[in-house]
Amino acid sequence: MRQVLSSVFRKPATVPYPFVKAPMPANFRGKLQFDSAKCIGCKLCERDCPTGAIRIEKVADKTFEAHFDFASCIYCAQCVDSCPKKAIQATGEFELAATSRQSLQQVFHAQPKAPAATPQAAAPQAAPKDPSKP
Ligand code: SF4
Ligand code: SF4
Repeated sequence: MRQVLSSVFRKPATVPYPFVKAPMPANFRGKLQFDSAKCIGCKLCERDCPTGAIRIEKVADKTFEAHFDFASCIYCAQCVDSCPKKAIQATGEFELAATSRQSLQQVFHAQPKAPAATPQAAAPQAAPKDPSKP
């Protein structure tokens, strides 16, 4: 009885999900994220994935996009560990239920790279000289 009574006045150990979501731990292996700006196209992620859930495709010079099959992914985060450039990260997102496998295919398109600045454009412009001053 003492145990029961003390539990009545204690804060609940659970949260009323889905109205309140508990924060995920920092190393949680949820849905993956891909940063095309960091990817060098080495395909180590593709090689090490145990379920063949990743395909890296070259779309332009030094530009790659990633195709993920989140229906095949087992969220082991091996690709995160294998990537030498930290281009793949696991997020805290876990609500991935879907009614079709097709909706779990996701392409992370490459972001267009900014053109490299020419030395002329990069150099600061000198202010025009004021003829009234010596
Ligand atoms: S988390 Fe595991 S299964 Fe999913 S894509 Fe990465 S390596 Fe493959
Ligand atoms: S391992 Fe990383 S850098 Fe290499 S292809 Fe995969 S995402 Fe790109």
